[in-house]
Formats: sequence, structure tokens, C-alpha cells
Amino acid sequence: MSEFLLGRRSQLWILGLVAISALIAANVAWLFPTLEEMDTGAYLLYRAVGVDARNQIASFLNSHEFALKNAADIIAQGTGRETELISRLMKENPPFESVALLGLDGVERFKTHRFLLTTPADLRNRSRDELFKAVSRGEIYRGPALISGISEPLITIALPLRRESGFSAIVADINLKFLLDVVRGITTGDRGVAYIIDRDGYIIAHPNSSLVFGRVNVLERKIITATLSGREADTRNSDFIYKNEKGEDIFAVALPFELTNWALVVEAPKSVALASSRRILSAALISFGLEIVLLLLLIWNYFNLIKTATLFYSERNQREAILNSLSDGVVEYNDKSEIVLMNPKAEELLNVKFKDIRGLAISPDIAKTNPKMKGLVELMYPALAPYASQTREIVGTLAKTMEVHISSPELKLLVTITQVVEESGRVRGFLKILHDVSRERLLGRMKSEFVSIAAHQLRTPLSAIKWTLQLLLDGDAGALSKEQGDFLAKGYEINERMIKLVNDLLSAARIEEGRFGYEFAEVNLSEFLENAIAGYADIAQRKEITFSFKDKAGKLSPIYADAEKLSLAFNNLLDNAVKYTAGSGKIAVTLSREGNFATVSVADTGVGIPTEENKRVFSKFFRASNVIRMETEGTGLGLFIAKNIIRRHGGDISFVSKVGNGTTFTLALPLKKELVPKEEKPELEEFLGSV
Ligand code: ADP
Repeated sequence: MSEFLLGRRSQLWILGLVAISALIAANVAWLFPTLEEMDTGAYLLYRAVGVDARNQIASFLNSHEFALKNAADIIAQGTGRETELISRLMKENPPFESVALLGLDGVERFKTHRFLLTTPADLRNRSRDELFKAVSRGEIYRGPALISGISEPLITIALPLRRESGFSAIVADINLKFLLDVVRGITTGDRGVAYIIDRDGYIIAHPNSSLVFGRVNVLERKIITATLSGREADTRNSDFIYKNEKGEDIFAVALPFELTNWALVVEAPKSVALASSRRILSAALISFGLEIVLLLLLIWNYFNLIKTATLFYSERNQREAILNSLSDGVVEYNDKSEIVLMNPKAEELLNVKFKDIRGLAISPDIAKTNPKMKGLVELMYPALAPYASQTREIVGTLAKTMEVHISSPELKLLVTITQVVEESGRVRGFLKILHDVSRERLLGRMKSEFVSIAAHQLRTPLSAIKWTLQLLLDGDAGALSKEQGDFLAKGYEINERMIKLVNDLLSAARIEEGRFGYEFAEVNLSEFLENAIAGYADIAQRKEITFSFKDKAGKLSPIYADAEKLSLAFNNLLDNAVKYTAGSGKIAVTLSREGNFATVSVADTGVGIPTEENKRVFSKFFRASNVIRMETEGTGLGLFIAKNIIRRHGGDISFVSKVGNGTTFTLALPLKKELVPKEEKPELEEFLGSV
């Protein structure tokens, strides 16, 4: 059976692995695409914010360039009102920190600063600058962001002027602190920020202005170098992943700002930007964990189930092994008389095969069409059998027994019948245990016959010895000396005991065979008892035992009895009372009436019977341990004979006893003839007791 479990166990492993793989596959199938979608969603959002910011920056720069352009156009007309024009320009565009006009030689001719007074000494020569080269080529110049220790970041923009105006360019320094408002205005959730990085990697606009003034450079971030080279980049690409100054992983989208070759970054800690995908991931992990736990529970349950089944199978096998090896037959059938179970011994006894009749409803008629079933039918319906005794309860159990003789095959069966009861109390069927007593019966009968023949044969020589000894004792063969007389008397007594033993054996054997031979007639019980007691006068005197007889029954009608057998029974009781009561004891015989029965009790003040031996008192050859110790004479057959005689009269016998205090035997005899059984039956008690 353990192979069964092992087989199941490996199946279970495979099942478990398949189930876990399926679970993982199912989770992976939805989780990763979902997470990717969530990441893409976050990217698109951040990018949209970035594009918006980029547009705002572009429009900031464009509008100021446009203002410069307008001024340049007017100057080009040569009105000579440059000073006035520039101060208006400064006034209308607060981000302009300073505006200058460059001479054709590249030297600043004219310059206005928002906060500082400019003297001719402040005018710089820019003829070698990149700026002058660009405007000389007719291009707009947009310089790098400049951050000095004290001032705010600036960017220089120069627009070329037509030479006719006498100037080569109009140059403006734009204060980038105004860009700060742009980046501050960009909202990307709680902890999201947008900031601008110039072409050298310095942060030039950031909601946290200390990063600007601290001249923080982030060129080492790959995402920045990539963006400054003109590509969009974001941290979904693992190359671009970086941490912020707090060590947090960052989710970022960086956009190039070609006009000035800057980069615009929109970022937030990953935990914030991808919060929803994180939540989904943790929910997925939790549910995955729960699924695994559930699966394990299922597997565990299944495993237990297998274990229970294995136990069940092994128990069933064990039960079958026991049933198969039983030397008694077992047949079970349900309330529809369908055969449920039959062991090999029952098959052998009833000469049928279980596999042929399994589940077959056995009706009394079935034997007509199938004579092979006759024995089984007679077993199930004992009324149809040639002989069936009454059922008898087995004391202390719910089982009953009966003897059934079946005709085909011819067998004497002792059948123990048990009801098969469901938990609800419903009787589901019957279980019959068949004990073949044919051989036991035969042996028993042979034994009884042997005993009765032997006893019978012994009686004649014993009687002869008795009479011979009697003659000698009576002096018929001449006078005896005292010594000779004593010896002979001893021999006579021993011979008497022998005769009693032989008689008892003969009686017991005949009782067992059911041919003790009763002759019933009317008997006056009161007189009968008085006579019986009178026979004990001598011995009572010798042992100094007081005998008493009380007739409490009043006038009883005669009972129907065999006086000779009844006196044998009664004498056995009186013999015992005398034998087991020490000198100066008392023996009281009382006759009374209880309903349809006359009761006779014989109470003594003798040695009593040990309680633990009470059950065996009426069995053949039983002698209690206390009397064996006393070395009294006895055969152990007296009470067996007495009980059977009383039973044959339709009565019963019982006793109460206390060791050291005395014993009272009570027998009940029916007062009505109808209560006396019609015929004598073989004694079943002995072999029933051995079942
Ligand atoms: P026995 O021949 O030994 O008396 P019985 O069958 O008459 O055989 O009695 C069986 C046993 O029961 C006795 O050996 C004795 O132990 C016990 N017994 C019977 N009657 C009495 C009694 N009146 N008092 C004590 N023990 C008794």
C-alpha cells in the first residue's frame, strides 16, 4: 500500500509543479505588460510636461529675441535715437540685464545696464569673441549661460544690424532667473521637478535655486550627455538610470532644447512617479503569494486525502486478511437480503462462491431454481432449515446465537447473529458467523457415550463390592476384630464414593445426550421436602448442624415432577450445604410461593463461594478454590446435574453467597403443568459457553 502512496506522492509533486508554473505564467502574462504600460503612461505624462516646459522656454526666448529684433529694425533706420530706444527696451523687458550696441569693429559703442552705471571704460572689445564672429556672418548669437559667483545666470543674445546703421550688432544679456518662474510653474505631482541644464552640464534653472547658485554640474549623468547631443532620453532605458542627491532612484524624461543647446529634465523619485505600478506590483506579489499558499493548502489537503485513503485501503486489506484466515464462516447481507460479504470459510461451508452471488438478493424461493443455494437460504431463513434452535443472547454483547442444521450440505452450525447498525441507528443488515459444530457434536456424543458405557460397566462390579463388604461388615462371614472392622468400613466408604462418582458421571453423560429419562407425576412438594430433610437427621446430629424447614407457601397444589430426579437435585443441594458448613452451623430450608412458581431456598452458614468464581458454579467438574484447599470430597458434577434437572422441570436455580458467611441456593419450580417442557433436549450450554 505504501507503493500506492509513493506513486501518488510523485504525481502530487508533478501536479504541484505544473500548478505553480501555471500560476507564474498567468501572473507574468498580465503583470509585465501591465507594468510596462504603467511605465509608458508615466513616461508620456512626464514627456508631455517636458514638451510644455520646452515650449514655454522657447516662447520666453523668442519673445525677447523678437523685442531685440524690433529694436534692431528701428536702429537700422538710423534715427539716432538709440539711447531712448534701448532704455524703453529695458523697461518693457525686465529680463534684459543689459543691452549694448556693437560698433562695426566689434567694440561696444553704447551700453545700458539695468543696475550699473556704465562708463566708457566698461565698454568691451568683442571683436575676437564668438559673438562678433557669428553676427559678422549674419547669424543670431545665443551664448552659453554664464553664472558668476554673485550674479544670477545670464545668457547673451546678439542680433546682427545692417552696416548702414553704423553698428554691427545689438547685444543683450538676459537674466535667466525669469526662467525660474517657468520651471517653478511646471507641476508634476508632489515631488516632481523640471529644470534646465546648459550645454556644459550646469543647472541653470531649478525650483531649488541653491542648485543653480551652487553651480551643480550633472554632466556625469548619461541621460544628460545624451540629451545635450540632441536626443530625447528617459530612465526606462537602464543606461540612463541615476539617483538623486538623496540616493533615491529617479524616473526622468530629458528633452533637448536645440535653440540654445540646453537640456530640459522632468524628474521625480521612481517611488512617486511609478507609484501606481509599484502598487500593482505589490498587489500582484501579495495575490501571487496568496495563490501559492492556497495551492499549498490544496496540495496538503489532497495529500491528507491520499493518506486517509491509504489507511483505509490498508485497514480494508487487514480486515480482508483477518476474514480470510478465520476458521469460522462469515456472511453479511443487507436489509434487502443482498449478500454483501462472505469469507472463504463461509464459501466452503455453504458450497457457494461469493463472486457468483455478490449483491444477489437471496429469497426463500431461490433454492427451488438453484438447489446449490439451499444451505445459504436455510442459514438466512432458519425457519426453512431442518432444525433451528431458539436464539439465545450472548451475555454482555448484542449478539445472539442459535443452532441451525442445514441440509445441503448437511451441517450443524452454531450461528452468531449480529445486527449491522448504522450510526443513525438504522439496521443495515445482518452479520452471521458460522461455526461448524458437526464434528464437535459427533465427538461430544461419542465422549458421552463412552462415559455412560464405562460408568454403566463400572456400576455392576462396584455394587458387587458393596454387597460383599456389607456382608463381611455384618459378620455374615464370621466375627471381625475391631481393626478388621475398621479397615472394611473404610473400604466400604471409599466404594460408596466411587459409586457416587460413577452415578454422577452417568447422570451427566445422559443429560448431555438428552436421554436422562424423566417420568413425571404429581408430587406434593411440602411432603417431599420434609422427607428429604428427614434423611439428613443422622448426619446433622453427627456434625452438630441445626436443620430447619419452614413452609411459607401455605397449601400448594401438587407440582408436576419426576420425584426421583427432583430428589437427586435437592439432595445435591443438601449434601453441599452439609459438606461446606462447619460444625454447629445452621441449614434452613424454606418453601414459598412466587406467582406461578414454588421456590425452595437452602441457606447455610458455611464457607461460601468466592465471588470471582460465581459464573462457573454450575459448570461440569467445577470446584471452588476454597473447598479444594479444604480437601473435601466432591466430583464437581452435583450442581450441573441439579441445574439440568430443575431446568427440565421448567424451573431455574440461582444462588447468593458470601465467603465465610454462607450460601443460599434458590430453586424455582412451576406450579402449572403447562410450564413444564414437553420433551428433553440435549444440553447446549457447554459448547455455547465455549464459542
Ligand atoms: P461438589 O461435588 O464439589 O460439591 P458441586 O457441583 O455440588 O460439586 O458443587 C460445585 C462447587 O460449588 C463445590 O465444589 C463448592 O466449591 C461449591 N459449592 C456448592 N454448594 C456450596 C455451598 N453450599 N457452600 C459453599 N460452596 C458450595
